[in-house]
Formats: sequence, C-alpha cells, structure tokens
Amino acid sequence: MKKSLICVSCPLGCPIEVEIDNGEILSVTGNTCKRGDAYARDELTNPVRSLTTTVKLVNGSLPVVPVKSSKPVPKDKMFECMKIINQASIEAPVKIGDVVVKDILSTGADIIVTNNDIGK
Ligand code: SF4
Repeated sequence: MKKSLICVSCPLGCPIEVEIDNGEILSVTGNTCKRGDAYARDELTNPVRSLTTTVKLVNGSLPVVPVKSSKPVPKDKMFECMKIINQASIEAPVKIGDVVVKDILSTGADIIVTNNDIGK
C-alpha cells in the first residue's frame, strides 16, 4: 500500500510517498532531506501536533489568554487535552511562559501562556 504525505517540516512542502506492507514501512521517497524521512515515519507511527488555543483568564484585561503546548502532543490525545484546557483557568497577571497545565495527560508537554497580561 502507498500513502502520500506532504512534509510540513519546512516551507518547501515536499510530496512524500511511503510504501507500507502489514504496518511495516518499506520505503520513503520524495523527501529532499533526512527530516522528511523522519517526518513521514513519525506521521505514520506516532503522529503528533502542536496545540494552540486559549484559556480562561481571571481578572485579566481580556477574558482569555493564548496558550500553546511546550512540545507537540500525540494526535490521538488532542481531544482529551482540549477538554482539560477548556476547564482550566489562570489568574492575571500572567507572562509568556507561565504554566497553565503541567505535563498534560502525562505527555511531557506543559500548556504555557504565549502573551503577557497585567490584568485589570
Ligand atoms: S523533506 Fe526536507 S526539504 Fe522537503 S519539506 Fe521536508 S524538511 Fe523541507
């Protein structure tokens, strides 16, 4: 079976083709560099995504503050992560890098603030 992917590791966006047999990756072609090979193998065995969203901000100048995961989290845990983040809140003042949720779902990723807010 062949699977087509677009490498998103850099703006070039190389089209990659992966040949798979019984879940085993036989070949990766179309990538221009090693990063593309690694991306394709990870995407088919353990896909991960960076998570960016907002979280409720108590006493802030705005009602929410943007947050992101400190590293990509497994794609199949995104929904559960969002449930936790939607129930979380942080109190102003906040600064970039403040941790809202530590080690979310034991992924090793923290949910961190990506904007400053000195509050009301
Ligand atoms: S294969 Fe290499 S050059 Fe091509 S998009 Fe991926 S990282 Fe960029």
